[in-house]
Amino acid sequence: MRLKDKTALITGAGSGIGRCTALLFAEEGAGVVVNDIDAEGGQKTVEEITQAGGKAYFIQGDVTSSSSVEEMKRIFLKRFDKIDVLFNNAGISNIGALHEVSEKDWDKLMNVNIKGVFLMTKSFIPFMMERKTGSIINMSSCAAEIGLSKRVAYSATKGAVLAMTKAMQVDYAPYQIRVNALLPGTIFTPFVENYLKNAYENVEEALNKIKSRQLSGEIGKPIDAAMAALYLASDESKFMMGSPLYIDGGATFGKDA
Ligand code: NAP
Repeated sequence: MRLKDKTALITGAGSGIGRCTALLFAEEGAGVVVNDIDAEGGQKTVEEITQAGGKAYFIQGDVTSSSSVEEMKRIFLKRFDKIDVLFNNAGISNIGALHEVSEKDWDKLMNVNIKGVFLMTKSFIPFMMERKTGSIINMSSCAAEIGLSKRVAYSATKGAVLAMTKAMQVDYAPYQIRVNALLPGTIFTPFVENYLKNAYENVEEALNKIKSRQLSGEIGKPIDAAMAALYLASDESKFMMGSPLYIDGGATFGKDA
C-alpha cells in the first residue's frame, strides 16, 4: 500500500503504460483518476480497477485543449478535494526524417506531447501548491538522449519534456512538489505496435532490431515503466527531484561493442 490515501491523476491511461500504471497505483491504495481522449479505453481501465477492488474514476478529455482541461478540472473538483500525483503520460508519435515530417504532424506532436504537459500542470499544480505537497511525473523517453532514426519530431518533444521537468522542479521545490521524468526505452504497447506497422514492412525484423538496441535483448513491458512510475509517485523517492529515471534495458548508456 505504497500510495495509501493518495489521489493520482494519470493522462492517457486508457491504454499501454498509462493503463498499467493506473492498475498498479490502485493496487497500491491510490484513488486513481483515469484520463484519456478515448472514452472506451479509459472506461475499460476503470472497469478493470473496480473489478479488482480498487478505486478509480474516468474523466474524458483532450490534454491539448485548454477548454477540455478546464472541464476536466471542474469534474475533478466535484469529486476530489486534493491531488497528490499527476502523471503526464499521454503522448503520441510519428515517423520520418525531418524533411519527411509534415507541418501538420509536427504541430500535432508538439501539441500533445509538450502543450499537454503544460496545460495539465498549469491547471492542476495550484492544488499541490496550496497543500505544499505533490509528485509530478512527466513522460519523456530515452529518445530525448539518443539519436534514433526517423524520430526527429518525437525526440524533440521528449527532449522538451525533460528540459521542462528540470526547470519546473526549481520553481516548485519551495512548495515541496517533486517533478521527475520517466525515460523508457521501447515498451511493448499499442503505440509501438502501430509504429512498427507503419514504419516497417517486416515487423518481426523491426522488433529484433529494437531488441538488439537494448542490452536486455528484450522489449520492455508496460509493468516495467509502471513500477518506475510507482517509485516516483511514492514517498520512497522523496529525495529524487528534477531527475530523469531511465527504464530502458540499457538502451541509453549501454553499448555491446
Ligand atoms: P499508448 O498505448 O498509445 O497510450 C497513450 C494513450 O494516450 C492512448 O490511449 C491515447 O489515445 C491517449 N492520448 C493521445 N492523445 C491524447 C490527448 N490529446 N489527450 C488525452 N489522451 C491522449 O502509448 P504508450 O506506449 O502507453 O505511451 C504512453 C507514453 O509513454 C507516451 O507519452 C509515449 O511517448 C511514452 N513512451 C512510450 C514508449 C514505448 O515504447 N511505448 C517509450 C518511451 C516513452 P488514442 O489511442 O486515442 O490516441
